[in-house]
Amino acid sequence: MNARILFFLSFVILHAGHAQSPKFKHKYLNAIDSTSLKKHLYILASDSLEGRNTGSDGEHKAAKYIIEQFQTAGIQPYNDSTYLQNIGLWTWRWNAFDFRNKENKLEHYKDITYLSTAPIETIINAKCIFIGNGADTLMQDLNLNDKIAVAVVENLNNWYQLASKTKRQGALAFMMVHCSDNEAFSELAQRMQASRQEQSVYSTKPHFSKSLTKAFALSAETVEQLFSLPLDSLKALNSVDAFSRLPQPELSLYCPITIERAQANNVVGYLPGKTKTAATLVISAHYDHVGKQYRGICVGADDNASGTTAIIQLAKAFAPLKGKLDKNIVFLATSGEEKGLLGAFYFADHPQEHTFAIKANINVDMIGRIDSTHKSNYIYTIGNNHYPEFDSLVHVANSMLTPMHIQYDYNKSQGFGNYLRLSDHYAFHRNNIPVLGFFSGLHKDYHKPTDTPDKINYSEMEQRVKLIFTTAFLAAQKTAFSTQDD
Ligand SMILES: [Zn+2]
Repeated sequence: MNARILFFLSFVILHAGHAQSPKFKHKYLNAIDSTSLKKHLYILASDSLEGRNTGSDGEHKAAKYIIEQFQTAGIQPYNDSTYLQNIGLWTWRWNAFDFRNKENKLEHYKDITYLSTAPIETIINAKCIFIGNGADTLMQDLNLNDKIAVAVVENLNNWYQLASKTKRQGALAFMMVHCSDNEAFSELAQRMQASRQEQSVYSTKPHFSKSLTKAFALSAETVEQLFSLPLDSLKALNSVDAFSRLPQPELSLYCPITIERAQANNVVGYLPGKTKTAATLVISAHYDHVGKQYRGICVGADDNASGTTAIIQLAKAFAPLKGKLDKNIVFLATSGEEKGLLGAFYFADHPQEHTFAIKANINVDMIGRIDSTHKSNYIYTIGNNHYPEFDSLVHVANSMLTPMHIQYDYNKSQGFGNYLRLSDHYAFHRNNIPVLGFFSGLHKDYHKPTDTPDKINYSEMEQRVKLIFTTAFLAAQKTAFSTQDD
């Protein structure tokens, strides 16, 4: 332990004596209670927020709720006009799926399903050519130039190889039908439809090459209509000669996209400190989650409605301290964490968008559960090995409360592993800002629709949020994380 930390510790212990007064506990800590935590958490983890996927309507609803809570508490927006910080992501969406056989529209997901992500911006008008099972012996004698190749296959999920082969032979698109399983098409169609309900976000503008493979699955009825033959008869054809006697119906294919800025925002609230200082403590928690899965909505009660709830309640507890602390406090609810810490990176890497000098970061990600190695009364902290000053602070804070077991398992390179890179605190750490992460451990419901609010332990969570408040209170003192330019 170096001398600076010893000096620092002697200060915080003195300060702890002061802070332990009933006034401190009553006025500030009592604002953090399990009933309020439960109320916020159930709202943030409700089905109507649809799993809070980055940039989605559900995430926007969550942002609106957080802003309302900040406003009620008297927490200011981080700049003159807004709590929202757009994090500069891109997204794209399908404008239409328009597939026709002459004048007859083919219904997407019922008659035909588009499998690729390649947009078709210019209508493809081309004749269909039947290619049987696409065996090499047949393919070598087929002219696929500017045609749509239609194959009968045994597995609708292994389309890529055959589709690429037809493309190399000049086909504009590839279509396939299952040889025997009637259910296979509708199952695949449902899966594709579900997967397209969630928008994708990118940190750079997406680009789609015009030459990408364009593959489709067809229902048996569609294929039978196109070639005017029952599927069993089509299947029995096995020569190029036989294929050449089939009709070559014309299809038109069109599915353009729009590429645009994603509406993905951090929510940033601000509590000014004592003087016009720039020194700022950031308390962060991501409010985004992974949206809907095939099996249901991932409501993300622990991940991370729990951390979001914590910063809402911390904002309320700190609000009466407006103008009284040595540092400003920023309450940062980040977006895009599940997509790779994108909101936190944006905030930490764009200091020109605010006037704060960030001195430290406390990050809260999943603090609502009891993991399989504990019964109660514990919290994991992350970053302690890099920032001994923060480690000292959390222990002093702990001694001011009914103490919890402060655990270090997620700081290690073995066992659970090092979690420093796995949540938003990493965005600050890589900018050399001291960080401390709070975490209650992994569980089997992680990133599943079963991470629900009934599985949160609210009284345990109350203890943890009180510890986070007290740690933040100490971190907001002048002597904590002081630098020569302060
Ligand atoms: Zn998380």
